[in-house]
Amino acid sequence: KEILTAIKHDQFYVVYQPVVDAQSLRMTGLEVLMRWKHPVMGEIPPDAFINFAEAQKLIVPLTLHLFDLIIRDAPVLQTVLPPGAKFGINIAPGHLHAESFKEDMRAFAAALPPDHFQIVLEITERDMINHREANQLFEWLHSEGFEIAIDDFGTGHSALIYLERFTMDYLKIDRGFVNAIGTETVTSPVLDAVLTLAERLNMLTVAEGVETPEQAAWLREHGVNYLQGYWIGRPMPLEQFRTWQPDITLGE
Ligand code: C2E
Ligand code: CA
Ligand code: CA
Repeated sequence: KEILTAIKHDQFYVVYQPVVDAQSLRMTGLEVLMRWKHPVMGEIPPDAFINFAEAQKLIVPLTLHLFDLIIRDAPVLQTVLPPGAKFGINIAPGHLHAESFKEDMRAFAAALPPDHFQIVLEITERDMINHREANQLFEWLHSEGFEIAIDDFGTGHSALIYLERFTMDYLKIDRGFVNAIGTETVTSPVLDAVLTLAERLNMLTVAEGVETPEQAAWLREHGVNYLQGYWIGRPMPLEQFRTWQPDITLGE
């Protein structure tokens, strides 16, 4: 009920975090992240309210509200992002497997400026467990022009088997791996192996949680395609995002 009230009173808002090409360091897209400003409790983190919404069976109305917020911002986003810019949206399993999912996605896409954004649905690997229909769903998404990213890669179980079984476009490397770069060990054998695998499977890679130029340099040298993290740009409200420019360099 709290969630429905919050939707009605416009307490949710969205922030946009830039994603850059690892070579050129130019912005190629963004990830949209939801925020809840509660009148009494203040800012509630999405990890908390997404799970809460799922448990209360309110994830579908919440995601539809997210879509509305994006549609509201789309005309401005269209002026700051080039055609084909990747637009990452987190989809919770409760919505992915909901009966209305395909209709919801179609309606959302139809409400956006035509042929401008490349929508990328970010799905975590733990959401694919025991869902044989996932492959059919992914095929359908691809046929409708959506792309799919596996989110938080490395944090779930049975990660590798899912890579082989499903066709996904991007692999988002969890920030746990990125964090470890340049700390205890000089090499990151697991991360190395993941990157090799992604390449063999024709998946593009996005590193999350890039906080230092050292991490960015390591990731770029190891062939990661895209970078996202505080070192590049924090999640920002639309007003700030519209004038944002990458302010980063790496020695050649
Ligand atoms: P996520 O999809 O892995 O999103 C990335 C999270 O990492 C975001 O946290 C972002 O603010 C944070 N982050 C980005 N760069 C850095 C960095 O350099 N260092 C560190 N330490 N953190 C960084 P946020 O916004 O708190 O979201 C947390 C999680 O909540 C998301 O993880 C996602 O699973 C979920 N979430 C957020 N918005 C939505 C949404 O609209 N729908 C759904 N279903 N889930 C959402
Ligand atoms: Ca994500
Ligand atoms: Ca993630």
